[in-house]
Amino acid sequence: MLAIISTEMTNKSFDTDVVHAGEDRSQHYGSVSTPIYSSSVFAFSDADEGIAIHNFEKPGYFYGRLGNPTQDALERVIAELERAEDGLAFASGMAAISGAILTFAKQGDHIVAPESMYSTATNLFHYLSDFGVTASFVDATDAENYRRAAEPNTRIFWIETPSNPLVQITDIRAVANIARELGVLTVADNTFATPYNQRPLEMGVDITLHSATKYLGGHSDLTAGVLAGKKELVDQIRHGPSKLLGGNIAPQVAWLVLRGIKTLALRMERHNANAYAIAYMLTSHPKVGTVYYPGFESHSNHEVAKAQMKGFGGMIGIDLRTAAAAKEFVNRVKLCTFATSLGGVETIVQPSALMTHATISADEREAAGISEGLIRMSVGIESVNDLITDITQAVDQI
Ligand code: PLP
Repeated sequence: MLAIISTEMTNKSFDTDVVHAGEDRSQHYGSVSTPIYSSSVFAFSDADEGIAIHNFEKPGYFYGRLGNPTQDALERVIAELERAEDGLAFASGMAAISGAILTFAKQGDHIVAPESMYSTATNLFHYLSDFGVTASFVDATDAENYRRAAEPNTRIFWIETPSNPLVQITDIRAVANIARELGVLTVADNTFATPYNQRPLEMGVDITLHSATKYLGGHSDLTAGVLAGKKELVDQIRHGPSKLLGGNIAPQVAWLVLRGIKTLALRMERHNANAYAIAYMLTSHPKVGTVYYPGFESHSNHEVAKAQMKGFGGMIGIDLRTAAAAKEFVNRVKLCTFATSLGGVETIVQPSALMTHATISADEREAAGISEGLIRMSVGIESVNDLITDITQAVDQI
């Protein structure tokens, strides 16, 4: 539903916004916590009103797949945090990604996307070739590559920055400018950065989206997706794939995301600080190859990261050189969790080439720069000293 962003709200600090965004005390008997509306059916009070709500001529609720007040509250919150006119919530990040793509790319259309990005999104782009939507994959660290790969039928420039798992940085403003020149829509996956660190819509992107399973939820206890943008664009997704394919968020899950977001600023501040310290410590360890972290001056796009991010995020890529070393590392850590997600309060490690990115071909992994020994580390909010002790003992034993 449409977010009403008061000037008063947008002038407040983001740290205040995450606590109070979307608040409407005139609703829900003044509940401070948004109630969970688990009803899938909403009764109408009279014929004209019911027909108008059902036909989207009047705001309101009528059927679970098409929204409820808890989902609506989450959509207002993500719109406010991303400084958007409107937001939309889904059952997963992939449902949000599919919703955006299937709205704006039709048979015969073309997408330009990073060659190094979340592998299931890459695989979705491959899958869509069966339906006549093609994709070109480019080195997204140079914005001009988007222009070079554009064809007359290009509809979408896909951005994921920092990227999964190498935390590569794409210059959001530069890609958005090229897209505007060419009349192409831009979509930015903002999962790794979160609106605390980076707000792509303010840099000219049309749609920004998240796997809310990650930092927005923040506690590894839900699966969800959200997107935000201009009302006209979000409405097309809402009344298109969101309604037709039915990947809607459950109200209980929407409530959990709302609760997670209240502490987003606090958590991101700690994720940023812990990741910086751990990445820095690892750079001097003899058993570690390249450490990928956009906060370092040695990172190839550090200047771009500095210009578009408030902090550099909680994700680090660590090259341990061989698959055997990567396996040894995940077997040796004691405090860090060996698992496949990211963005939670706990530190999670995984050997990317052997797991999430095993689903793309070896050639694609090579082009993306994902080596066999790569560890993707999602740094949590534990004590940084405890984390450094654990990571050091694990690397020492490789
Ligand atoms: N985008 C990024 C950057 C991701 O890392 C992920 C999942 O890991 C997704 C999207 C997909 O989100 P979900 O797993 O919630 O469908």
